[in-house]
Amino acid sequence: MTEPDVERVLLSRERIETRVCELAGEIAAVYGDGEIVAVGVLTGAFVFLADLVRHLPNRVRFSFLKADSYATGTYPGALSVTLVGETDLSGRDVLVVEDILDTGRTLEGILGILRRRGPRTLRTVVLLDKVSRREVAISADFVGFPVPDAFLVGYGLDHAQRYRNLPYVGVLRSEAAGKSS
Ligand code: 5GP
Ligand code: MG
Repeated sequence: MTEPDVERVLLSRERIETRVCELAGEIAAVYGDGEIVAVGVLTGAFVFLADLVRHLPNRVRFSFLKADSYATGTYPGALSVTLVGETDLSGRDVLVVEDILDTGRTLEGILGILRRRGPRTLRTVVLLDKVSRREVAISADFVGFPVPDAFLVGYGLDHAQRYRNLPYVGVLRSEAAGKSS
């Protein structure tokens, strides 16, 4: 099944499944049998998070955050973060789960805010990493796939709130990228 607005499938359902399972193994090897607070970045991370945590042998608590950046005037980096679910991160082993790392600005802002809540450890896992687009010095502790600089949809990623439920990651046609409805 491919959508007309999807130019090609970049990562098939099967490749994602295999890699997500491996990632869970890499994560479990680092945390041992400790409890993790998984913090999913809404909305894009919800599919990845749901698949990933079902492969983790650890006890997991959940929190979700919504990050809103307001680019007003001279202060473009201002980010407000709202946490729901497990909000007590103090002394805990926190794993931020994000769909894609692009310029790195969002994740950098999120980590700065979460650090103030005093977690014992703070790590990040991203499914996709657009390495060539980075504008700030940040890398994720666990990465699913390095990906090229193209607009990607599926497996949680949207275009105008569509395509999040595609079971694969695809490249959106550039003609479609301009449309908003
Ligand atoms: P950053 O602050 O790293 O530039 O932005 C990361 C955010 O941009 C991601 O969480 C995601 O919401 C969005 N983003 C970056 N690249 C893509 C992409 O190819 N497709 C979609 N749907 N969102 C993207
Ligand atoms: Mg996002």
